[in-house]
Amino acid sequence: MESVLAKGFRYPNQSVIFRQIRYAGSLTRRRLTQLTDLSFQTVSNIVADLVDMELVVSDGLVNQNAGKPAESLKVNPEGLYAVGILLDRGKFEATLIDLSGQCVLRSTHAISSVQPEETLLQIAEVTQQFLKRTGVPPERFAGVGIASPGPIDFRFGAISHPPNFPGWAFVPLQQQLTDMLGCSVTLIKDSHAAALAEVWSLHTGVPSSMFYLYLSAGIGGSFVIDSRIWTGFLGNAGEVGHIVVADGPLCECGRQGCLEAAWSLGKIAREAGKTVEEFADLLNQKTLPYWDHWRQGIPLLARAVVDVVNVLEPESLIVGGPQGEIIGNDLVTPLTNALQKEGFVHNLRPIVVRTAAVANAASMGAGLVQINAALTSDISSNGVLGLAI
Ligand SMILES: [Zn+2]
Repeated sequence: MESVLAKGFRYPNQSVIFRQIRYAGSLTRRRLTQLTDLSFQTVSNIVADLVDMELVVSDGLVNQNAGKPAESLKVNPEGLYAVGILLDRGKFEATLIDLSGQCVLRSTHAISSVQPEETLLQIAEVTQQFLKRTGVPPERFAGVGIASPGPIDFRFGAISHPPNFPGWAFVPLQQQLTDMLGCSVTLIKDSHAAALAEVWSLHTGVPSSMFYLYLSAGIGGSFVIDSRIWTGFLGNAGEVGHIVVADGPLCECGRQGCLEAAWSLGKIAREAGKTVEEFADLLNQKTLPYWDHWRQGIPLLARAVVDVVNVLEPESLIVGGPQGEIIGNDLVTPLTNALQKEGFVHNLRPIVVRTAAVANAASMGAGLVQINAALTSDISSNGVLGLAI
């Protein structure tokens, strides 16, 4: 059989049909015809191609109102796999996902050295262990997607001048990992990967536009419009953490008073002598005095968020990211109140603020980007990235 990776989707209607089946879970050819305005013959031909590629499989027969039972189709989870990596300060998270977007395996690893090559070797080793443990055949492996804090440079597949990754500046990690594993590798900023995982999970319920606020040690974000994200020209759009909100300390970016320098989990945890994870756990338990200290800075975050919403006017604001998953619920009300009180368009329509639906979103999203790239050869163009799957 020809490798699904060599083939991929050859024309847009293949991704249209695949997506409809994914959204619905299970669909007959007749129902696909109704949903897409394609002829029954065209739908049947496309379904035959997808079945031949083993991306779609039979879900059994369903009774119709008239006539004989019809075959329903569903996504074949085993049709394609990818590994998503979230690079973080001092550690990385690895997730093996299948074509249905489900996590098959996940593990977190301390980065043993500040040197990029040793970390890439660790990532390659974990990837190979995942494939060995699950028996994923090479022709069904789409490759590795890496979600990294910015700034990155799409052109070189590298982190460009990273404050928290000494020695990593312009190291072509995308190419180096490709050489180590012999598979395709994609680099994307962490907030964009997380936003794409959210879009994937919402199916047809994606707001027309949303801003995904990504809270990790620092603060980033991603603007989504019509299920596609604005990555920025080199992949770095959405740096909410570098909006000036106070007459505060010097930021590592060189500006004075950036949100991240004035108030971020990384900064507050550092001051408390804790790791970011330890500090987030303390917040999750509402432990005093850490809880009060953290809450005192929320107005600074709100100030930056109001600026973002004033500029972009998204339909929804989503609070996510590794720390957003833990403390996001406690931000929804203060951010909603700030937007209603200070937002430029607050009297026209209240913006919907909610927490993210997907956990471990950045590594999940990095894997989805890689599956998307394998099937559509469409990674990013002109600063816009969407999933055609
Ligand atoms: Zn800054």
